[in-house]
Amino acid sequence: MAETVTNWAGNITYTAKELHRPHSLDALRALVAGSDRVRVLGSGHSFNEIAEPGVEGALVSLGGLPVEVDVDSAARTVRVGGGVRYSELARHVHERGFALPNMASLPHISVAGSVATGTHGSGIHNGSLAAPVREVEIVTADGSTVVIGRDDERFGGAVTSLGALGVVTALTLDLEPSYEVEQHLFTELPLAGLDFDTLETVLAAAYSVSLFTDWREPGFRQVWLKRRTDQPLPDFPWAAPATEKLHPVPGMPAVNCTEQFGVPGPWHERLPHFRAEFTPSSGAELQSEYLLPRPYALDMLHALDAIRTTLAPVLQTCEVRTVAADTQWLSPAYGRDTVAVHFTWVEDTDAVLPVVRRVEKALDGLDARPHWGKVFSALPLDRYPRLGDFRALAQVLDPGGKFANAFVRDILAG
Ligand SMILES: Cc1cc2nc3c(=O)[nH]c(=O)nc-3n(C[C@H](O)[C@H](O)[C@H](O)COP(=O)(O)OP(=O)(O)OC[C@H]3O[C@@H](n4cnc5c(N)ncnc54)[C@H](O)[C@@H]3O)c2cc1C
Repeated sequence: MAETVTNWAGNITYTAKELHRPHSLDALRALVAGSDRVRVLGSGHSFNEIAEPGVEGALVSLGGLPVEVDVDSAARTVRVGGGVRYSELARHVHERGFALPNMASLPHISVAGSVATGTHGSGIHNGSLAAPVREVEIVTADGSTVVIGRDDERFGGAVTSLGALGVVTALTLDLEPSYEVEQHLFTELPLAGLDFDTLETVLAAAYSVSLFTDWREPGFRQVWLKRRTDQPLPDFPWAAPATEKLHPVPGMPAVNCTEQFGVPGPWHERLPHFRAEFTPSSGAELQSEYLLPRPYALDMLHALDAIRTTLAPVLQTCEVRTVAADTQWLSPAYGRDTVAVHFTWVEDTDAVLPVVRRVEKALDGLDARPHWGKVFSALPLDRYPRLGDFRALAQVLDPGGKFANAFVRDILAG
């Protein structure tokens, strides 16, 4: 490539010769139709080669297309272009008096790229970010558009699709009336105090709950409760209220973090941990995440506690969240209420990879599915009961494998 293009973290340098930035839908269609292999680069917040098209392939950014965010107040939906980020979407939607049900830890990520990988926030009743998607428009291999809505039998494969079906040029999402959220933070929740029922109660204590640990001690250093102001104030006797503003990585300044100490604010300025107007960190990190059936949450914590002296030296922070079961065939939360354990590692790939393998071994038997956009070593494809349906859909929409890069080739084979 004349220009060097990397992902946000800088651990992946794309080998494609050029980053294409078409300025119109017609130009995008012509580019797709005329290329042998195509992958879209969203906001580049994945940590692996999921977006890499290979040296002969076309890497495409939709950042040159006009930003499209069209709210339909009567239908309570929003149509959003394939390159738009959550920060842009949330601002427009909020101005019109509407909201999304949930957001990830930061708003800087693209909508299409996030739902493609099963990206999620937290909350036992909140599905992944793909949950409000009701329709998706995809430019397929010959440059034509396919529209797949919720009533279509192909819908289960169409949203969390790893970019393997085509270029998503627009999504339509359900909206709800705008609401306010406040964040209440607590510190020092020991693992010893958590039995199965208490952990369930802790994870359900607010609309969205995050538990953070650096595994230097057996327990959580921080608990973040995000309460909707139209829901009851949680009673939280298991840990002490925080006495200062906190960053999820112990010792880091909280200036980049969304407002804490119970100050109410709009949903999109509280559900993410990080403010839209700041970069959340320098990018000097790697991430991994595993999603398991929620009833395994306590077993998972004890399995990780048993290897915490291996984890701690390469760990910045570890976050536990929940995701409600969804119906996207490749979603890590497909068909099961889920607990997700996330690791923000140091940026040293050589030091981190052996520990990633150690985590996967520790979680063996707990039916863990890795986050598609993060660092993992084993790909347990037998844990996706609808994988065969996804392969069949990819075969119909992309019979020549134009969108099948090295990352998805094993997923599509079979
Ligand atoms: C600091 C940070 C915080 C994060 N927090 C969370 C979190 O809270 N929860 C969570 O679950 N994940 C989180 N992630 C992971 C992140 O949400 C995912 O990696 C997500 O895929 C990022 O979206 P993106 O557009 O940047 O993806 P990219 O890396 O650009 O692309 C991801 C995939 O989507 C495809 N794609 C992108 N746009 C399109 C399109 N228009 N059409 C077709 N395919 C497309 C790409 O080809 C690729 O396969 C975080 C990542 C970072 C760096």
